[in-house]
Amino acid sequence: MRKDFLVFGQPLIERDEMDEVLDSMSKAWLGTGAKVHQFEKDFARYKTIPHAAAVNSCTAALHLSCLSLGLAPGDEVITTPMTFCATVNAVIHTGARPILADIDPVTLNIALPEIEKKITSRTKALIVVHFAGRPCDMDPIVELAGSRGIAIIEDCAHAIETEYRGKKAGAIGDLGCFSFYATKNITTGEGGMVISRDEDRISRIRIMALHGLSHDAWKRFFDSGFKHYYVEEAGFKYNMMDLQAAIGIHQLKRIEEYWKRRERVWKRYMEAFSDLPIGLPAPVGQDTRHAYHLFTVRIDSARTGISRDAFLDAMTGEKIGVGVHYVSLPEHPYYQRAFSWRAEDYPHAHAFGRETVSLPVSPKLTDRDVEDVISAVRSVLVKKYVR
Ligand SMILES: *Cc1c(COP(=O)(O)O)cnc(C)c1O
Repeated sequence: MRKDFLVFGQPLIERDEMDEVLDSMSKAWLGTGAKVHQFEKDFARYKTIPHAAAVNSCTAALHLSCLSLGLAPGDEVITTPMTFCATVNAVIHTGARPILADIDPVTLNIALPEIEKKITSRTKALIVVHFAGRPCDMDPIVELAGSRGIAIIEDCAHAIETEYRGKKAGAIGDLGCFSFYATKNITTGEGGMVISRDEDRISRIRIMALHGLSHDAWKRFFDSGFKHYYVEEAGFKYNMMDLQAAIGIHQLKRIEEYWKRRERVWKRYMEAFSDLPIGLPAPVGQDTRHAYHLFTVRIDSARTGISRDAFLDAMTGEKIGVGVHYVSLPEHPYYQRAFSWRAEDYPHAHAFGRETVSLPVSPKLTDRDVEDVISAVRSVLVKKYVR
């Protein structure tokens, strides 16, 4: 067994971002400034979209995106039960009501027929999540939403590199939201981005991310004369810092290199586990690009002889950090109380959430680490099912 614990989803932080952070520190400009502006420009170019606004998390990006659509009490927003809680909390904080539509059991993305069933006259928006980095089947979703006047937000927290039929994730719907949390494909520690083709929407989001102030606060310091600022709306404190953008600028430059590394790890796992009685991710869809954010295996105790939770413990015992993405949203007490959601009503998300385990795929993994993960999985399972 390996000696040190393999931390799940640890980012790869390199010399360039360390130097850039030091540069901010030695200039004593820590807050929102030129580096945030640069990171927004670089990210917009990467996504080939005209407008991007950096914020301090994807949660903030989702919340501001919901507000920019004018969501309010009485409105409904359809989304998936197989996501992080932030996706629905962003809706709840506008006063609108989240409505869940179950996933497709193969792609693990929100299922079109389930969306159709949940549309009412109150449906204002749809939040799709490109789960694990695999794009949702956007053409029919865009067509359905368009025909009913429903806006689309893409939660791209897993999907920075994702493409669907030549289109980039986040640039297909009305707004795309990204996360640079420590475990995501590229990181700023904490951080997020909203992209859109709609300039007005992005400028409103920019204003709402900084208290609702009329000017970018940092620009005031460069102006020759003193400038008053005015509060245009009751906004939030959601701005990204230069210290964060300093990391992001250099992480973004390495995004392809990291993607290739994760693809190699992914393929190695697919091959190494092909003879085991566990569920593996579906093959990558035609004419799409997968972002390989999560590698999820399914542990069905009837086939493996070990429960999912016992498997999680056994892997940790083998010094391999693992994750669960996710226990389905209706299993959480708050949502049960607030919306009377029942897990059984979303059977595919429920079953997946009870059986899934995420294995490490970060670019920080060495070949040795990858082989350690494989040996640990094999030894935990072989001990259980080969008697
Ligand atoms: C990580 C994540 C978020 C939240 O991102 P933060 O940057 O941590 O706020 C939202 N949605 C999904 C699907 C995520 O995985």
